[in-house]
Amino acid sequence: MHYHQYYPIDVINGPGTRATLFVSGCEHQCRGCYNQSTWRLDSGHPFDQGMADRIIADLSDTKIKRRGLSLSGGDPLHPANLAAVSALVARVRAECPGKDIWCWTGYRLDELSEAQWQLVEQLDVLVDGRFEQALADPALRWRGSHNQRIIERPRRQACGNSQDQATLTASQKESVSC
Ligand code: SF4
Repeated sequence: MHYHQYYPIDVINGPGTRATLFVSGCEHQCRGCYNQSTWRLDSGHPFDQGMADRIIADLSDTKIKRRGLSLSGGDPLHPANLAAVSALVARVRAECPGKDIWCWTGYRLDELSEAQWQLVEQLDVLVDGRFEQALADPALRWRGSHNQRIIERPRRQACGNSQDQATLTASQKESVSC
């Protein structure tokens, strides 16, 4: 996997003070995407052990406390990124107890493959769906367009038949539990 940018201290992408990793690689090609330079899988820098160690160290920092890790891009759920992102998420769970993990993806919940679900079920929050220019709204928090949803604790069993309910709820408040 490659990554484009890493913000060791970030108060924009998710709640509280966080560490944020922007990975490389996205196949959605949304019109109006602000991050087109991240589309290519080999853009940016190789994500290596040293970078993973740095993220763990930042999340463990007691001087500047981070609430958690944000994973954005590009698309962390691009099939080519799943192994490396899953390994990072597993390390955060094992070595940084109490930290939350948010992830932004262009895939909708109902489009996820089995392999993507295995990662998604380890997350605290998934912001799903492509950026839709016609539904864009700069006043939205943590998402760019109204079709995107902030889904707390995305789990297969709970989400299986609740797409209509989740969409309805998302239009009424900013985050949904599915
Ligand atoms: S999913 Fe995100 S990074 Fe990918 S094209 Fe759409 S807006 Fe850009």
